Amino acid sequence: RRGAALLVQVITFGDGRRMIISRDVTQIEKLETMRRDFVANVSHELRTPLTVVSGFIETVLDGLEDVPHEELQRYLTMAHEQAARMQRLIQDLLVLSALETGAPQPVEDVFDVAGLVREVARETEALSAGRHQVTVTAADACRIQGSAKELHSAFANLASNAIRYTPSGGKVELRWRVLDSGAGEFCVSDNGIGVAPEHIPRLTERFYRVDRGRSRETGGTGLGLAIVKHVLTRHQAELKVTSEPGTGSCFCAVLPARRVIPVAAR
Ligand code: ADP
Repeated sequence: RRGAALLVQVITFGDGRRMIISRDVTQIEKLETMRRDFVANVSHELRTPLTVVSGFIETVLDGLEDVPHEELQRYLTMAHEQAARMQRLIQDLLVLSALETGAPQPVEDVFDVAGLVREVARETEALSAGRHQVTVTAADACRIQGSAKELHSAFANLASNAIRYTPSGGKVELRWRVLDSGAGEFCVSDNGIGVAPEHIPRLTERFYRVDRGRSRETGGTGLGLAIVKHVLTRHQAELKVTSEPGTGSCFCAVLPARRVIPVAAR
């Protein structure tokens, strides 16, 4: 097979007979490459803000008496922003690692989905700070079986992306509905910058960003959709993305029917 990695062992017995053992280690090699890339990415992501912070500290220490108060204030504000960026990254890494190393099954709460959607909407409005028109439609009253904490984090990640990738004055809509199949669908649509089709399949990879600069500017860690994907997989749910550059995006989390309990059936 082209591109396959094989580990071949030759054992020679005393009577001269030989045994050849060949093992396909393609998957192991692939995992090892992914692990190496991940460590390199994390180191890079931490090194950049750390360099900025230590640069500021050095500058201030070098000329403490001469630095005007306003300039000092400016340096400290920038250093604070970089420290916050490192904190966000570490927080997201801890969330990812907890999802990967924790129990394979999510905690099974049963909770009201409309309440969760309204809570996410309040957080989204706070994040937007009046720069976007945020609307909520959660018409189908029902309960969900799954981890409220994990699904909250997944839904909130999708909503915060919509805010971060939609210029001021844009619209962000959060919507929950039960499909005819009984599956439940939480969608976030925006009329923001959108994503070109070739990027869509890779968006949930850790640290994959269409525009690194824009992601950083808006406080992104590059791990949000990786977290979303993990949470949804643990709930046997799917992420569906439709998007068009310059027009906007729609990110939907589709939960299987067996996790959706319509109110009437209670
Ligand atoms: P980030 O912290 O960079 O936002 P994510 O994992 O949340 O990381 O998203 C990965 C990339 O997907 C983003 O960098 C961005 O390019 C793209 N993306 C995610 N959501 C949207 C959206 N609503 N509109 C446009 N692009 C998006």
